[in-house]
Amino acid sequence: MRPKVLWVQFGSCSGCTISFLDNGPWADRILDSIDLLHAPLITDRNEMPEKADLTIVEGAIAVTRQHLKKLHDLRERSKKMLSIGACAESSGILHYAVGNQMPQPELDAFLPAHEIVPVDYVMPGCPPAPAAIAKFLEAFISGDEDYLAPYAEIIGKPEGRIREIVQQGLCMSCGMCGATCPTHAISYVEGKPVIRDELCIMCGECYFQCPRSFFPCREGELTCDPGAARPMGVYAEGMQMRSSSPEIRKHAQAGGVVTALLNYCLDTKTIDGALVAKDGSNPWEGVPQMVERSEEVVASAGTKYAVCPTLYKLRESLTLGGLRKLAVVGLPCQMEALEKYMQYPLGIRAHPDTSILRIGLFCSSNFRYNAMHKMVEEVGGVRPADITRIDIGAGAFQITTVTGETIDIPLKVVHGYEQESCKVCPDFTSEFCDISVGAIGAREGWSAVLVRSERGTDIVKDATSEGYLEKGDEAPDMDLVKLLSEKKRMRANKSLSWREKYGLLNPFPGIDALKD
Ligand SMILES: Cc1cc2nc3c(=O)[nH]c(=O)nc-3n(C[C@H](O)[C@H](O)[C@H](O)COP(=O)(O)OP(=O)(O)OC[C@H]3O[C@@H](n4cnc5c(N)ncnc54)[C@H](O)[C@@H]3O)c2cc1C
Ligand code: SF4
Ligand code: SF4
Ligand code: SF4
Repeated sequence: MRPKVLWVQFGSCSGCTISFLDNGPWADRILDSIDLLHAPLITDRNEMPEKADLTIVEGAIAVTRQHLKKLHDLRERSKKMLSIGACAESSGILHYAVGNQMPQPELDAFLPAHEIVPVDYVMPGCPPAPAAIAKFLEAFISGDEDYLAPYAEIIGKPEGRIREIVQQGLCMSCGMCGATCPTHAISYVEGKPVIRDELCIMCGECYFQCPRSFFPCREGELTCDPGAARPMGVYAEGMQMRSSSPEIRKHAQAGGVVTALLNYCLDTKTIDGALVAKDGSNPWEGVPQMVERSEEVVASAGTKYAVCPTLYKLRESLTLGGLRKLAVVGLPCQMEALEKYMQYPLGIRAHPDTSILRIGLFCSSNFRYNAMHKMVEEVGGVRPADITRIDIGAGAFQITTVTGETIDIPLKVVHGYEQESCKVCPDFTSEFCDISVGAIGAREGWSAVLVRSERGTDIVKDATSEGYLEKGDEAPDMDLVKLLSEKKRMRANKSLSWREKYGLLNPFPGIDALKD
């Protein structure tokens, strides 16, 4: 039987309803699967059954007898209740109402629904993106409680908790919160989000979308168990590869595979553009950039050993930039942010045909720019501007200077300068992507490549047959890659234990992170 659904508006601009309708044919399919008895703007039906399966509350609840009575009445009729959008979830922009607002000046105080009656789910967002609403309703119709669980756990978690992520050393500078924020209230200082309070409308999207508030992992994924069955995640094949272009290899960090892949994808229109870390104005600084031309791709080659909130440009690329076929290059934690966005696409209103090719890098750790700067000056005795190359390998942070001198900083020392959140990170090889690329396990001048998805496998195969990539005769040293993956999990495991001991938040596993 089709579930009986009511969609009821309180103090709302109808933005959430319109966002749902923006799903086009997808919305039609969902509407065919439910019995929608009341929903201004969607149906002329105005029925109030004794029992509804789901009531969707849109808008903040005005502190008037009529609104309070109506909400209580709905609660009694409803098996499940969803507060949709920032207004219902946190009173959103109406939080600031002081009376006399047009067009309803008689209403001057508002509360979120869950502060008046128990609700079962809240969906942050101003408005939530169309796909997020569609996915919620599909999960509700099919009874997928696992998928719905974060929407239950997030109830009453104030949007300000994104600050907690930063303060508790869990932020790893992915840039997703800034991409999500509908009012551009978030900017980045040293890769960490800073919120301008005067622009924040308390929509809660940043916290929900942050991969460190919760991560929707399944059994065996992103586990900090060093003995886990799949320390490198799921992959189809490991290969040693390099770019066929000596010019690319000259600029690249290892075999130039990332750059060659992006160029192949641009040339063949497999993608319209890519998000990368280009050189910033300070030496060895990386800044996010959307690139559409191969010269820009080549200019972005090479590793910048400092945090770069690449995903900050995701909204711009998918909306203003008009890109439908995007590639994103990023670290394992950034691939996690993308994975979460694909499962819970709350914050960015992308076109339904959007595809994102994920090229993930191997990563042992990263630094805030100033910490990296301090380390190379203090320990290495060299200014960043005088460094021509940096590598991580053979137990050391290896620096080559303009004079040709090489300086090794032992990794033991390096750990003292790392970004705090890297210490709880269990992912070495970018488990959540289409193609993983690293240097470890490959010989000098080559890259270790793990193809994970069918799409990733096809793209690597085609780029090779079209002459963009060369495949080495031997596979990478997978025992070494495995060993480092296990070591990283072991370190994360240790950090989780001491964090727990001192009462700090932990990001894993799954939605347990949301439980107080
Ligand atoms: C912080 C960091 C730590 C790493 N640690 C390891 C490690 O321990 N072991 C290992 O084998 N490999 C590690 N890598 C990956 C390695 O350095 C190379 O990026 C990888 O081998 C790909 O080489 P390539 O020649 O194919 O890439 P290139 O063709 O040189 O392209 C590199 C790509 O990386 C992107 N990029 C550069 N810096 C950053 C950044 N800070 N954040 C996000 N994207 C960036 C660029 O946009 C570019 O698209 C790390 C990378 C980074 C950024
Ligand atoms: S910072 Fe932006 S995304 Fe976060 S709650 Fe405020 S308005 Fe929403
Ligand atoms: S981890 Fe990413 S989404 Fe979370 S606070 Fe940091 S930059 Fe924002
Ligand atoms: S160690 Fe993990 S959290 Fe740190 S930069 Fe690398 S992938 Fe991100």
